[in-house]
Amino acid sequence: MQLVRYENRGDARLGVLTAHGVVDLGDAGLPTDMVEFIRLGEQGLDAARSAAATATPIPLDEVSLLAPIPNPPKNVMAVGRNYLDHAKEFSDSGFDASEVQMIPDNPIIFTKASSSIVGPDVAIDTANDPTGTTDYEGELGVVIGSGGRRISVGDAFDHVYGYTIVNDVTARDLQKRHVQWFIGKNPDTFCPMGPNVTTIDELPDIGASWLRTHVNGELRQESPISALIFDIPTLIATISEVITLEPGDVIATGTPLGVGIGFDPPIYLAPGDVVEVSVDGIGTLRNPVV
Ligand code: MG
Repeated sequence: MQLVRYENRGDARLGVLTAHGVVDLGDAGLPTDMVEFIRLGEQGLDAARSAAATATPIPLDEVSLLAPIPNPPKNVMAVGRNYLDHAKEFSDSGFDASEVQMIPDNPIIFTKASSSIVGPDVAIDTANDPTGTTDYEGELGVVIGSGGRRISVGDAFDHVYGYTIVNDVTARDLQKRHVQWFIGKNPDTFCPMGPNVTTIDELPDIGASWLRTHVNGELRQESPISALIFDIPTLIATISEVITLEPGDVIATGTPLGVGIGFDPPIYLAPGDVVEVSVDGIGTLRNPVV
């Protein structure tokens, strides 16, 4: 099932994507907040399936999709250097002032504040990056279902609710200048998310999905998810060893080769550009740049 948040006549609603449009879940007595809905677990999904089978959908061109989870319980957790070929291009660029070694022994985890989250088709605003070094990072987002502490690698997928797409937009000069990545990763609008949450039953083998990023129609990133250095169970086990994961938490799993900083000279985003991040089985997250 593909769950969406959408705007209809000024209201933010939750819905299920069907072949004929969006079926509203609020009309079925379900929450209008995605985190609340995820907390319902299988019970919520069963009710959504019934609604999708019986209610009349709203045509997709009559609604605007919103970020599916604008309010995760904690910041979006994100992983640095988690594809080998990207780790190398990033290392070669010299833009990681905190670099100890090219391939880390343990996952590098940083966070993106909810204030940076925007939905599909919302502009990435380069005016929020005073250094003019705005770059894209197409990433798979893992959405946590049932939370917990000390989740084992073997149990990790039982705690995955589904997947979304995150563009970990980054101000490269700020990322370098401040050593810790928080400022460079968190300008307003620098966390596009969407276009939906695709439940895990639709993607039982997420490793087989490919991620692709296009800028102005030009292919820049292309990798199977299976190329992650630290895979999804390892990330969940690592984080939950010390942090309680909660329903609706989001982990952006890292970006593959092909970001703007990897080019010589770098190719940064500029007003008028359009960035599209696609993951097989989920869809495409498209954002213009202003
Ligand atoms: Mg990233």
